[in-house]
Amino acid sequence: MCASSSQSGSESRSKQPIDCPLCSHRADSQTDVYTHLLVSHRKSAIARELLDSNRAR
Ligand SMILES: [Zn+2]
Repeated sequence: MCASSSQSGSESRSKQPIDCPLCSHRADSQTDVYTHLLVSHRKSAIARELLDSNRAR
C-alpha cells in the first residue's frame, strides 16, 4: 500500500536560490552565497551589517 512513502518530492531541496543579505546578488545555494560573502564583501562590512540589523529593530 504505502510502497513509495519515502518519495515525497524533496529531491532538490538544497537548490533554492538565495539572496545575499548585503546586496542583490542571488546564488543557487547557501554555499554559493557564503562564498560570495567571503569574496565580495569584507568582514568589516558583514560585521557592520549585522550590527545595523541588530539595532534597527
Ligand atoms: Zn552580496
